[in-house]
Amino acid sequence: MKMWINGKNEDSCSSEYMEVRNPATGKLVDSAPAGCREDVDAAVEAAGRACGPWASLSPQERARFLYRAAGLVRERGEELALLLTSEQGKPLPEARNEIRGFASVLEYYCGLASTLKGEFIQGPGNGYSFTLNEPLGVCAAIIPWNMPALIMGWKLGPALVSGNTVVLKPASSTPLTNLKLASLLGEAGLPAGVLNLVTGPGSVVGEAIAGHPDIRKLSFTGESGTGKRVAALSAPTLKRLTLELGGSDPMIVCDDAELETAVDGVLRGRFYNCGQTCTAVKRLYLFDGIAEEFLGLLERRVRSLRVGNGMLDGINMGPLNNEGQQNYVAELVRGVEEREEGKILIGGRIPAGGGYSDGYFFEPTLISEVSPDSRLLTEEVFGPVLPVVRVQNLDEAIEEANRTKYGLGASVWTKNIDRVRQAYEQLKAGTVWVNQHLKVAPELPFGGTKESGLGRENGPYALSDYLESKTVMIRT
Ligand code: NDP
Repeated sequence: MKMWINGKNEDSCSSEYMEVRNPATGKLVDSAPAGCREDVDAAVEAAGRACGPWASLSPQERARFLYRAAGLVRERGEELALLLTSEQGKPLPEARNEIRGFASVLEYYCGLASTLKGEFIQGPGNGYSFTLNEPLGVCAAIIPWNMPALIMGWKLGPALVSGNTVVLKPASSTPLTNLKLASLLGEAGLPAGVLNLVTGPGSVVGEAIAGHPDIRKLSFTGESGTGKRVAALSAPTLKRLTLELGGSDPMIVCDDAELETAVDGVLRGRFYNCGQTCTAVKRLYLFDGIAEEFLGLLERRVRSLRVGNGMLDGINMGPLNNEGQQNYVAELVRGVEEREEGKILIGGRIPAGGGYSDGYFFEPTLISEVSPDSRLLTEEVFGPVLPVVRVQNLDEAIEEANRTKYGLGASVWTKNIDRVRQAYEQLKAGTVWVNQHLKVAPELPFGGTKESGLGRENGPYALSDYLESKTVMIRT
């Protein structure tokens, strides 16, 4: 595939390509241009030229393009889901879900188009004042490989409806679904230059975007360390920033919780997308009184998970996305074993033989009796490995849950209203779930505190991040 610049497919000035391989089989799926700085310049220029005409349309007219695009995405949902699974690895039902999520978020922002407004303010003295909310101009998005379609939607919906144009960089291991989605937006009639996709390495294309003087806002999703680098590169041009970064979400199961439901929550919360979800359950805190029973139930369910090629029927968990991910998860678990930082209850290995040998698979893994300073608890575990810790009560659970540099999500599982209140008041996270985990929706603000990020995506809030308020004062 080629890049998408100014409404056309383009090669890179570098003339080089990056291979995209299927993480379940190692087979070549396709390739994408290894873009360079000049490609970013060309994309920003195209986006800059498209700014005026796009901003001069009414929000409802802009929304019509996106609504048509969402319809096309739904029509071609199966083709897109197959492409997503082939480059990302997730089971096909998860890929279908994600493609629908992309369409839903565009449709949600189309619905908000007619709510864009300024404000009348009486102001001081004779006369009156009001505010206009104007688009910022060229905005950029840098996205990761774990949810490439959904996260593309989170960025495009508010940016485009509010009248900005966009330059987007996909992750290098999953550019294909993003490129296909961009061409569908083109098919839906989106004017040339309103959306531009530049593929290529983060160290080249990502850095060129972060430092570009003509980009007014950058919304970045990725690892916290990369987020800090991007923030530093953006500082000289004072770009507006949204940073959606890593997380180490705790899940607290109290002794009055509905255990079977909570076990379902762990299965989905930890092993969905092979554990590569920013708001996955990354630390499990069990009240001592129910820990034995809970672990018994959980072990049985984890053992029944079917790991394999996401294209096959009945697969619950696909491979990790890339070799680096597989090495990192294997090394993390090996370190825990070597330093005796926990007891492996299930899994812990790269599965051998059969359909596994060419892919980046890892067994679903449960580790109990984890020591407090283990990397499993202090770092983001971005894979299918769940550390389990026993606690005596909710005070202790919340204290442990907050003992992290991250603050993306957290959940408490209980029927007791006082515990619910204590949890949502005291857990330091952008989202606190009660008796569920992982769920996100276009209408609800999403983002983190501490090193999990800056700002919020989704909901009406995200629109204001793409608009500049201008005050007009009129003397009469
Ligand atoms: P990375 O930070 O490695 O990469 C994210 C994006 O940044 C990719 O497009 C990457 O390009 C690019 N990039 C890499 N280096 C640079 C650089 N120096 N300058 C600019 N851009 C750069 O994250 P992953 O792709 O590994 O994604 C996983 C991470 O994303 C996890 O930490 C996860 O928690 C987080 N995440 C957060 C979410 C949230 O909403 N809070 C949602 C989803 C994921 P390339 O692929 O070419 O390296």
